[in-house]
Amino acid sequence: MGFKMVEIYKSEEFEALPLKSAYRFLEEKGLKGDAQRIKREKDKYKSYTSTLRRGKIIKLLEENHLLDEFIVKCWPFGKTENGEKKIRRYKKIYNKCLNNTKGKEKDNVTPIEGYKNRRDKMNEQTSEMDELEFEQPLEEEIERVEVTPEERKVFTDKGDPEVDSLHKRWTKGKLVLQPGFQRHFVWDVKKSSRLIESALLDIPLPVVYLSEGDDGKEYVIDGQQRLTAFFSFINGKFLDDDKDFKLTGLKVFTDLNGEIFKGIDEDLQDTILSCKIRTITFKKESDKNLRFEIFERLNTGAVSLNDQELRNCIYRGLYNKLLVELSQDKDFMYLLGLKNFDKRMKDVELALRFASFYHATYLKYKPPIRTFLNNDMEKYQFISEKEAVELKTAFKNTITIIRSLFDIHAFKRFYRGDEKSLNGYWEPKKFNASLYDILMYMFAHTDKNKVYQNLDSIREALIHLMTSDKEFIDSIELSTSSVQAVRTRFDKWRLTVEEIIGIQQKEPRCFSYKLKEELYKNNATCAICDQKIQNIDDSAVDHIEQYWTGGKTIPENARLTHRYCNWARPRKE
Ligand SMILES: [Zn+2]
Repeated sequence: MGFKMVEIYKSEEFEALPLKSAYRFLEEKGLKGDAQRIKREKDKYKSYTSTLRRGKIIKLLEENHLLDEFIVKCWPFGKTENGEKKIRRYKKIYNKCLNNTKGKEKDNVTPIEGYKNRRDKMNEQTSEMDELEFEQPLEEEIERVEVTPEERKVFTDKGDPEVDSLHKRWTKGKLVLQPGFQRHFVWDVKKSSRLIESALLDIPLPVVYLSEGDDGKEYVIDGQQRLTAFFSFINGKFLDDDKDFKLTGLKVFTDLNGEIFKGIDEDLQDTILSCKIRTITFKKESDKNLRFEIFERLNTGAVSLNDQELRNCIYRGLYNKLLVELSQDKDFMYLLGLKNFDKRMKDVELALRFASFYHATYLKYKPPIRTFLNNDMEKYQFISEKEAVELKTAFKNTITIIRSLFDIHAFKRFYRGDEKSLNGYWEPKKFNASLYDILMYMFAHTDKNKVYQNLDSIREALIHLMTSDKEFIDSIELSTSSVQAVRTRFDKWRLTVEEIIGIQQKEPRCFSYKLKEELYKNNATCAICDQKIQNIDDSAVDHIEQYWTGGKTIPENARLTHRYCNWARPRKE
């Protein structure tokens, strides 16, 4: 339903001379050879090729005194003022391109890349250095949102406003360009200049998608860069750094290089201001989850908004502000290893993950995680003061506990050694969202004092699970957002922690961390392989006589080993 509609909009051609009917017209008039030549000809203006072809056709028609007939029969605008203006522009383009080619070595000219390539290049440039890296993508499965047909309603408005009108709306604050938080995707001056040149050449521009907020303003979902380039040029200065916007690197309108908006012909200024951009606006009455899903599908390039940035547009309100605030907590940033806020709001998404599991509990989790998170955002969009305080306190406490437990290793995996290299190690960089979920959940639901009395044991227990429990390991590294994986990891971790802080009087199965520390300081050699153990976290205290054959957990029965050696040790000795 909604999707089809959107796809049609997307593929719709912007107003331009249909090439097919033009070729047919030429053939009918006995100019088949010329038509085929134009069709085949390739030139350096790659992305402008079809525009140039139209220019060539117009020129050819004019030379053969067929232009008037053509305008009546084939020209979609007929004999209107607008239509004639367009004809003039095609002729201008033709002359421009032809003159520029003269006297130049073909190979010395860098071709203008197609839009898609340009976009890819921009993506490369804008991928920041200080972003969180994840072991798995935060949302792995794209599944359909399960809602009944009556709820699946999306209302859209379609329009073709001129750049001038968009610029005015933006100036008045009715159109919000960068709804994303801390986003700085700015094209460089060359890329921005080329967009202006495309407008001058009348090249169809991709659709801009807008979302109507509850405040009645329109937020740009897709098209920020294009609009930023236009507005910067019209204003004369780049919006972000206040530098003059002088056209640079133009390939066709080479004489405009170095010019600012006010310095170019009024005619050309008008061309830019009257350039039309197809916009699709999603009305606020639309189903939010579905709106989210559609945006997600429209977002194909990495320059587009990601999930959290979309949520930031769709579910604006107190809750969104609170999540941003939580993500800026100093301890939280320290644990994530972030010096600055994550530019793509992944830190905010993590705060939301915590909140969603905190509110709903893992027992009510249903995939896909994306919808699980969306639902939480919708439910608490206008969170009450009391609920906000509660969430904030839980978050802060939890973060403090995890910092004392794992410090820089928080939310990262510990890997056991293997036969080749006996030494285990902490994952240095990549963050594991599954570990994040269970740790945050558990400590938000556990008595703080009891946790502090058992820090060492809890720490040991998690490392043990990560290195020795196959089911647990699978649940944090394979299809991690399935119900089963979520249940497994939450349950296992919950039972482990409860066992530690609950029943301490029974004969313990594990030796104390204190004993391990003593053994390690005394002699860090593995009792099984006789090699040095590099890291205390990688050492296990092993029963000389195994626990299940009656070996007691007393210092006399203890020896230090690699985690791997201990794990690989034959169970019957
Ligand atoms: Zn060993």
